[in-house]
Amino acid sequence: MTHFEYFVKKIILLAIISFLVIGQGCLQKKKPKSEFCSEDDFKKMDKVDIHCHVNTKDTVFMNQAVEDNFRILSINTDAPLDVDYMEQQDIANFQRKAFPGHIEYLTTFSMKGWGEDGWLEKTIAYIKESMEKGAIGVKVWKNIGMVERDKDSSFIMLDNPGFDPLFDYLEENNIPVCGHLGEPKNCWLPIDEMTVNNDKEYYKEYPQFHMYLHPGFPSYEEQINARDRMLEKHPGLKFMGAHLGSLEWSVDELAKFFDKFPNATVDMAARICHLQLQAQSDWQKVHDFFIKYQDRIIYGTDMGDYLGASKEPEKLIKKTHTTWVNDWKFLTTDEVMSVKEINGEFKGLKLPREVVEKIYYKNAEKMFPGI
Ligand SMILES: [Zn+2]
Repeated sequence: MTHFEYFVKKIILLAIISFLVIGQGCLQKKKPKSEFCSEDDFKKMDKVDIHCHVNTKDTVFMNQAVEDNFRILSINTDAPLDVDYMEQQDIANFQRKAFPGHIEYLTTFSMKGWGEDGWLEKTIAYIKESMEKGAIGVKVWKNIGMVERDKDSSFIMLDNPGFDPLFDYLEENNIPVCGHLGEPKNCWLPIDEMTVNNDKEYYKEYPQFHMYLHPGFPSYEEQINARDRMLEKHPGLKFMGAHLGSLEWSVDELAKFFDKFPNATVDMAARICHLQLQAQSDWQKVHDFFIKYQDRIIYGTDMGDYLGASKEPEKLIKKTHTTWVNDWKFLTTDEVMSVKEINGEFKGLKLPREVVEKIYYKNAEKMFPGI
């Protein structure tokens, strides 16, 4: 073979390879992902559950999360749980080591010593230390507004000026905040006027938390207004309202909240049934709400391992997996479904893939970049 022939053959070979590579690229472009998600995509999509509580070193829940392709945000809470908020942080860091890339956590703080010298400094120091240990944000809980009282025995609300330097600190340092303020509106209604079965059962069992029976406590509106006044004071704060921002009963109210606070997002944790209920009477409205506010809603469940859940591992696995699959079905298909939380049937929202990806991980990654 002459030098020239060799050169020509090489050129032809290169042309064939380029043709194949480009051709394959074109073929791939011709097969875009379908507009809607399939059942298979549940496993394939790298999802986030933004509102969980993993308060044990047991691995049952986390194994299921890995199995179902979920990254978990475990939210530390200063609630009367079996482990206090500081131990919750140690557990979260244990789980981060055991399941790297699959779990992160939010820290929180205690109201103990509120009004005394040093509370603020101590609180900020604890948050700073937590962030250094690996926390990716802070949780504020409903004890503010519903439990904690000031020296004059009035309830400490979220817009209390005593919190201003704390929220200034979080705002200035771009530390995201998840706020569970107030309760579902049902909590302030008599049992027979409540809209979902799980609220009826819960407040029947725990009358001490049923605000309808405790008129001396701040009203539903007072909880929401205090939260909103705090947000008005801190327009740069990255804020995620837990449990649909306690505005679960009306997508119209949620829309107003989003319009008023352009930085705010909400998680869906333990309130998806309220959306299903609204979809029962006006499917189009709920569907269009998701489309319009697709950048502001984050998937979450409030599940995890707390109050001894992993002592019954099979039950925990079943509940966790079933909830994740049913919620996926509601958001991605238009199947007619029913759940125990509400009476009667409703139709799935069948949201476009683009919206599903935002709700299941893109918005979470924007809100909490460490996830
Ligand atoms: Zn929770």
